[in-house]
Amino acid sequence: PFDVLVVGGGPAGAAAAIYAARKGVRTGLVAERFGGQVMDTVGIENFISVPYTEGPKLAASLEQHVREYEVELITSQRAAGLRQSELIEVPLESGAVLKSRSVILATGARWRELNVPGEAEYRTRGVAYCPHCDGPFFKGKRVAVVGGGNSGIEAAIDLAGIVEHVTVLEFADSLRADEVLQRKARSMGNIDIIMNARTTAVLGDGSKVTGLQYTDRTSGKAQHLEVAGIFVQIGLVPNTEFLQGSEVERTRTGEVIIDSRGATSMAGVFAAGDATTVPYKQIIISMGAGATAALGAFDHLIRS
Ligand code: FAD
Repeated sequence: PFDVLVVGGGPAGAAAAIYAARKGVRTGLVAERFGGQVMDTVGIENFISVPYTEGPKLAASLEQHVREYEVELITSQRAAGLRQSELIEVPLESGAVLKSRSVILATGARWRELNVPGEAEYRTRGVAYCPHCDGPFFKGKRVAVVGGGNSGIEAAIDLAGIVEHVTVLEFADSLRADEVLQRKARSMGNIDIIMNARTTAVLGDGSKVTGLQYTDRTSGKAQHLEVAGIFVQIGLVPNTEFLQGSEVERTRTGEVIIDSRGATSMAGVFAAGDATTVPYKQIIISMGAGATAALGAFDHLIRS
């Protein structure tokens, strides 16, 4: 059995595994795909001390760094549950069961997608999900934000300071965002908000996004918007479905609830990164959270 078993191989899981292994405890890491969301990222300009890198390159350095330590890496395997037995058990979809004295959950999240034609084709070529990450790439251009919840309106306000113009498209007949955010957005000169808009397609010229198509749900008419970028802000879904039925408490949206040391509601189980209630979802934040969870787990081990 392991002393620390990390589930997930993104920035949070890699940091947790390195911090745990450096304590000399028996450490394992199981992940479906090493690198996590970083593998889907092109330019990264906010990983402090590295002015520019690319996702696959950062993922390769993460893996290289983990491999410098005695970490048993189990990849291409998905966790299917979590239960307390004599030790904590993590059954895998393959049927195997991993056992450990402590577990760190770092299974990340995925952006909810529009599922319209063109979205997948133009992902990273104009279709973006993270305004903090990709906003500056659209400096001086016209962009759209799909989604009028808090994250959509926050994105619009954030982007309005960088880009030429922002159009927000909301499916419903009213915005779900907090009133204070709506007021701020309306006070900015370069944000338009369109209600009752069902986004139906991402348009492009073969190499990059040129616009989008939506249906005005009141008139039923198809409309066209010329933009260079489309920020999809319709929700972030934590990869925590496998915790259903476990003792680990999650929020209504599935985020694992953690305290300031990364501890969850289940003894010996810690969590870090995008899968948790941590406020902002970023690489550097996930790495810090992974370190916190590993130190929290080590603290737990020396007390039990
Ligand atoms: P993830 O990176 O999501 O990793 C989760 C890990 O868990 C993966 O290894 C996955 O395979 C594994 N996993 C999931 N479920 C299971 C399971 N059941 N069993 C086993 N393994 C499982 N952030 C920035 O700071 N700067 C940027 O420029 C930036 N750009 C981005 C661009 C895009 C397109 C996207 C999608 C995100 C971007 N982000 C950026 C956000 C950043 O990638 C995330 O905040 C970060 O990767 C979260 O790290 P994590 O380790 O918590 O989760």
